[in-house]
Amino acid sequence: MTVLFQFENTYARDLPGCSAPWQPATVPAPNLLFFNRGLALELGLNPELLDGPDGAVIFAGNHVPEGAEPLAQAYAGHQFGGFSPQLGDGRALLLGEIIDDLGQRRDLMLKGSGRTPFSRRGDGKAAVGPMLREALIGEAMHALGLPTTRALAVTATGETVHRERALPGAVLTRVAASHLRVGTFQYFSARRDTERVRLLADYAVARHDPDLVGTPDRYLGLLRRVAQRQATLIAGWMNVGFIHGVLNTDNVALSGETIDYGPCAFLEAYDPDAVFSSIDHGGRYAYGNQPPVTRWNLARLAETLLPLIAGADSEAAVARAVEQATEVIDAVPAWYEAALLRGQRAKLGLVSDDPSDRALAEAWLTLLQAQRVDFTLGWRRLADAADRNEEPLRALFTEPHELDAWLDRWRARADREGSSAADWSDRAARMRQVNPAVIPRNHRVEEALAAASDDGDLGAFQRLLAAVQRPYDETPEHAEYVAPAPADVTACYRTFCG
Ligand code: AMP
Ligand code: MG
Ligand code: MG
Repeated sequence: MTVLFQFENTYARDLPGCSAPWQPATVPAPNLLFFNRGLALELGLNPELLDGPDGAVIFAGNHVPEGAEPLAQAYAGHQFGGFSPQLGDGRALLLGEIIDDLGQRRDLMLKGSGRTPFSRRGDGKAAVGPMLREALIGEAMHALGLPTTRALAVTATGETVHRERALPGAVLTRVAASHLRVGTFQYFSARRDTERVRLLADYAVARHDPDLVGTPDRYLGLLRRVAQRQATLIAGWMNVGFIHGVLNTDNVALSGETIDYGPCAFLEAYDPDAVFSSIDHGGRYAYGNQPPVTRWNLARLAETLLPLIAGADSEAAVARAVEQATEVIDAVPAWYEAALLRGQRAKLGLVSDDPSDRALAEAWLTLLQAQRVDFTLGWRRLADAADRNEEPLRALFTEPHELDAWLDRWRARADREGSSAADWSDRAARMRQVNPAVIPRNHRVEEALAAASDDGDLGAFQRLLAAVQRPYDETPEHAEYVAPAPADVTACYRTFCG
């Protein structure tokens, strides 16, 4: 029989005591709903062998492929600010790792594959809607150029799972640079198991920051790298209007990838206070809170690494480690601001740095907020305005005259980088490469998932997926995905956990 996957199992081998070997549950009727051929090729897999019934039995968990050593990872986490010492993979199993076509190690994980030693009161299962949602939003994020875990497959199980109502069951096959989370470190730190924290940190360094291997201050270096990756990631989210929804420390990956798409959503009208998740009562994970919450989450990682950074138990060594770690955490807002501004400059069509740019970008956002302008369309129509087509932009504003002074400022700034007609047309083209026309708008996502889950009709899902995979193309067939939701739909939109 052909070997379908060249699995390696470093998580099991190099990190004893950090996971539990476990087997997926068997399900009655595996059926592939989604298979990601492009990602399969990246992973060196053969889509012809996997995109069908043979793949379905693997991706549903019924057949554990040769070389896989399924395991549930241990992790803890701060959930909405409160510490849970024992979370872990309650409904997921790592099958193993695959080296991709760029030589990068990628995890292959099943999510929804049944109960594990970490399931607590959960059933270990997942439903079709939320798993297709994770696949869809992940592909959208990837197409938008943001680091993210991705779905290789979504497989219906033929089972019914019971949530607020009975739903069709599914398993997601997730690909990640790793599943190391802030919460993974917290699990062992909370148990004062410094040796396992060290194993994890050395493993993380080898996997994500190999240039730091063997350097004397690698643990501080790891913290700095993770913090920089997170600062950059969150800036990317903010510049596309993404709200994760559950930024608990167990959902913060050391790789810097977006992970665990639950009650996430994209902004429509620009509003820093926007919250969509039904469980986020206090707005802890509101759009505009994501940067400070990320700093908070990174401080929790720093705490777990302190004994390693100190290197010795002496009071002086610990005090020095606290100082060094604090310096990193205190630098997070500046790293974030710098990444945000880099993105905003590109969105504004600017190629050089000017000290006035930050105020220019902020004044733009203030305008969007005051007039509740659609975030995505506001930016996209600004690209049209660069192309001497200002009307579509003005039409987004209830008081368009308030836009004029800002447009004058922006044009004066941009003119300094080139003011000819050709310069402005290049600028418009550049802006259309970074300001998407298509995002997975919440009402379209819901519509597509409802058809798939309630009626078994994947048509709307496939059309929406194709559109979000080409977010910068404003073609006629994309028109329905470019348009915002009717105001009454947007006003009451809520997302739920899967
Ligand atoms: P999440 O909110 O998806 O980040 O998950 C938080 C924790 O709850 C993790 O430990 C999950 O494994 C666990 N969990 C979520 N849903 C289930 C489920 N249906 N069965 C068992 N564990 C679950
Ligand atoms: Mg999670
Ligand atoms: Mg989740």
